[in-house]
Amino acid sequence: MRIVLVGPPGAGKGTQAAYLAKNLSIPHISTGDLFRANISQGTELGKAAKAFMDAGNLVPDEVTIGMAKDRMAQPDAEGGFLLDGFPRNVSQAEALDESLKADGQKLDAVLDLEVPEDEVVKRIAGRRICRNDSSHVFHVAYSAPKQEGVCDTCGGELYQRGDDTEETVRRRLEVYHAETEPIIDHYKAQGLVVTISALGKVTEVTKRAMEALGRSDA
Ligand code: ADP
Repeated sequence: MRIVLVGPPGAGKGTQAAYLAKNLSIPHISTGDLFRANISQGTELGKAAKAFMDAGNLVPDEVTIGMAKDRMAQPDAEGGFLLDGFPRNVSQAEALDESLKADGQKLDAVLDLEVPEDEVVKRIAGRRICRNDSSHVFHVAYSAPKQEGVCDTCGGELYQRGDDTEETVRRRLEVYHAETEPIIDHYKAQGLVVTISALGKVTEVTKRAMEALGRSDA
């Protein structure tokens, strides 16, 4: 399956993507994670992306689209993928549509995760992520690790992302409404959008998502 996940920052896209990708046996491709990996490795791409990310703005399309396409061209993504954080504006969506079409492929679904704005700010401000694996996500109040600052799953160090401050979150939400939400209409016109609520337990949301994708059997 070829799936795009959309939803505001803090909707739980990364958390859900990890479970869904496993259940559906497709790679989880997160442009945010790809940028963060480039930043920690000190690559030119990482240097180009960092200031935009820290300000809560989108990294320019010239950088982003090439990076996303390169990742989708890897052998593990031949049979499908779950995109998380891409496309993030209409021109990225158009670039994705064209590149899939050129390969005789198409998307199967766009899964839209809905969550109220005040919940988003609470989730993100308390979010802590493992340095070893960004799918190991905790929250200081909602899902606190047993030992402060230490990942329950692998013992890695937990940290707060530089763009997870309240001020940057507000900016990321503005960018989401202005630039990313329009892709939902773009894909509604193609009949691809399924919307689910992202409130409730992680396992409940995953179940809802699998049902919405018609894959509750997987
Ligand atoms: P979240 O969805 O929680 O905001 P991500 O990890 O997906 O977090 O993205 C973090 C940041 O990375 C974004 O605010 C943006 O600066 C950059 N980014 C990620 N994906 C894209 C994209 N497709 N286009 C432009 N910038 C992106």
